[in-house]
Amino acid sequence: MNMTTPAAEMLTGWSQDHLITLAGGHLIHCKMQMAWQQLQQAAAADDIELKIVSAFRSFQRQAAIWQAKCEGSRPVYNLAQQQVPISSLSGLAKLEAIMLYSAIPGASRHHWGTELDIYDAAAVPKNYQPQLIPNEYQDAGPFAKLSQWLNSEASKYGFFRPYQFYRGGVAAEPWHLSYAPIANSCMRALSLDTLHQCLLQHPIAEQQTVLANLKQLYQCYVINICEDT
Ligand SMILES: [Zn+2]
Repeated sequence: MNMTTPAAEMLTGWSQDHLITLAGGHLIHCKMQMAWQQLQQAAAADDIELKIVSAFRSFQRQAAIWQAKCEGSRPVYNLAQQQVPISSLSGLAKLEAIMLYSAIPGASRHHWGTELDIYDAAAVPKNYQPQLIPNEYQDAGPFAKLSQWLNSEASKYGFFRPYQFYRGGVAAEPWHLSYAPIANSCMRALSLDTLHQCLLQHPIAEQQTVLANLKQLYQCYVINICEDT
């Protein structure tokens, strides 16, 4: 597969042909719309108002986030939610710090349109800004009920959480929902070579370190997920 095929462009955030726009303005995969509506309706029946914080993200958007974190103009957090002094890091350690919460451009699952960062609007005041931090989704957090609900209900509609638990790569992201019927085939199609070709064509911040460690980063952060069960 190379970058001239639509599939590679879709996988790496360079195509939007597969997307539709929801009423709230978020872009999702057109073949996920029905399942998402069904999940929302089922949640509503249990007094949960599913809302999207983030859905599709383009390569350019991910590259802007990536660059801002590399430059230190956007905060980078560790597993304890403490800010990392990114300017004191270099090489692979710097990439690993960033990749705890941010994917390499071209390798974000959000490129596919099958991924949603969600919260429960019924559990918080109208003006609440979801921070997408673990505390919100655990124990006494406002979205603990949503987390519990997803444990038993999400799979009935084809959804799972690839970052439900920390596996040594991406941090636990209980808010990140994935539509398995499409996302699983996207992950199989996103080969190391596809990602490599994409980055050669579209260089990013810390390009040399990324390319020098790409195989390891791919194994630890891209394909190292909590499988759909
Ligand atoms: Zn996400």
